[in-house]
Amino acid sequence: MPDQFPHTVTVVGAGLVGALVATLLAQRGFRVEVFERRHDPRHNGFRGGRSINLALAERGWHGLRLAGLDARMQPIAVPMRGRMVHGLDGSLQLHGYGRDDSEAIWSVNRGTLNMTLLDAAEAAGAILHFGQRLEGIDGSDGALLFHDDGDGRLRRHPTGCVLGCDGVGSALRLAMREIADPGERFVPLEHSYKELAIPALAEFPPGQMPRTLQAAAANGARFALEPNALHIWPRGGYMCIALPNAEGSFTVTLFLPNEGTPSFATLIGRDEVRRFFERDFADAVPLMPDYLDDFFANPTGTLGTLYLERWHLDGRMLLLGDAAHAILPFHGQGMNAGFEDAVELAGLFAAAPRDTGAVFTEFQRRRKVNTDAIAAMAIENYVEMRDRVDDADFLLMRELERTLAARHPGRFVPRYWMVTFSRVPYAVAYERGRIQYALLAELAAGRQRLDEIDLALADRLVLERLTPLILPA
Ligand code: FAD
Repeated sequence: MPDQFPHTVTVVGAGLVGALVATLLAQRGFRVEVFERRHDPRHNGFRGGRSINLALAERGWHGLRLAGLDARMQPIAVPMRGRMVHGLDGSLQLHGYGRDDSEAIWSVNRGTLNMTLLDAAEAAGAILHFGQRLEGIDGSDGALLFHDDGDGRLRRHPTGCVLGCDGVGSALRLAMREIADPGERFVPLEHSYKELAIPALAEFPPGQMPRTLQAAAANGARFALEPNALHIWPRGGYMCIALPNAEGSFTVTLFLPNEGTPSFATLIGRDEVRRFFERDFADAVPLMPDYLDDFFANPTGTLGTLYLERWHLDGRMLLLGDAAHAILPFHGQGMNAGFEDAVELAGLFAAAPRDTGAVFTEFQRRRKVNTDAIAAMAIENYVEMRDRVDDADFLLMRELERTLAARHPGRFVPRYWMVTFSRVPYAVAYERGRIQYALLAELAAGRQRLDEIDLALADRLVLERLTPLILPA
């Protein structure tokens, strides 16, 4: 309903992005109603979600800061200062992420973060409805149709302005397709994932799990691996990663092809799975007492990249977060990008609350170029993580990258740093990263060691090809 104040903004989906956008809009004086298909996790326990924990980086923290939640999340987030690479021979190498130990990405529990955001949305005045699954849109007047889990009936919700935050399988997107073609393309990854667990080195009675690092340590919890790192077991065509949880455990994720050998299609018996793990992840096996049971009991998650040409239906409906641009998880940026959406949209809405059509058009114009860029970088990072993190060329290029970054601060800035530790637009990080990668490859070609590289030439090329980086205020 363009040119009219959106008295009520309806949000479909109270996951991470839906709960944050509801909070930010309610804090800016909008009346917000949220409909979520699941039951309230604060009363019924958090179930489901796309991964148990996830990495929060600067873009995500920025959204939490604006919502006033950073101080609540900080004590329950575990800093990861680098990648700990586990070689096939059991060797360990730590590759720092930032310029020093103060720069880290943070492992957070999805359920805790989601519940914290729901509390904030409610405190800001948003009205939350749980057990309400969007089924479609009434073609005659655009009302939303929800299946009510309480009585099994279909309820109509007339609304002028809807935000679809209902994830990669968005029901709102499906319903919008009936009205106008959004130009959708979904590119599935030929690999899927499975979550396993490394328990803490201390037992806690059910319901008494410590929630902060300090509380866990005070209660005798110890981590079975270095806690302040994201662990990776790169094995060429596949890999495991592990992220720490505040109470001392790790969530392990195996990424493996769907077909071929080894793959989810061929690992079907306990003996095959045991042999596979003992051969490829020998140092992790003793730390995962239940991995065989977990492998067969836990679901296999699918992955893919979603591209849409149009994210909105004039001023009536807009998709954001995974519903508009789901990406692969290999840069740890899906939620971070979704939080950036929420911040951008809240800013645009607050500046022009009467013209949702113009707000939605501008939102897509600003965001799509950036989410396309992070989608591309996430695909590239998969190849890097599973295949390249332990190869010699890659390590030399990383060393040269660090050297040039130190010689040209503010001008030669590693792409990973721009994506993770700054809010430089993803598209800018992608383009500068492309120029820097070409430069590193050119300088390192045929060289084995850093002292064989002509640094005077490197300095000249950096000054010729890169302008100073402008950081967002
Ligand atoms: P979702 O989190 O999917 O939430 C959608 C919500 O909508 C849910 O609550 C759902 O119940 C609700 N819903 C769905 N359908 C309906 C309906 N019909 N009616 C009403 N409600 C509905 N990102 C990072 O930034 N860092 C990471 O480290 C990271 N790791 C990841 C690891 C894995 C294995 C995966 C798969 C993803 C990872 N991500 C990570 C990406 C991140 O999980 C997503 O980008 C993020 O969850 C998107 O949030 P969202 O709110 O858009 O969607």
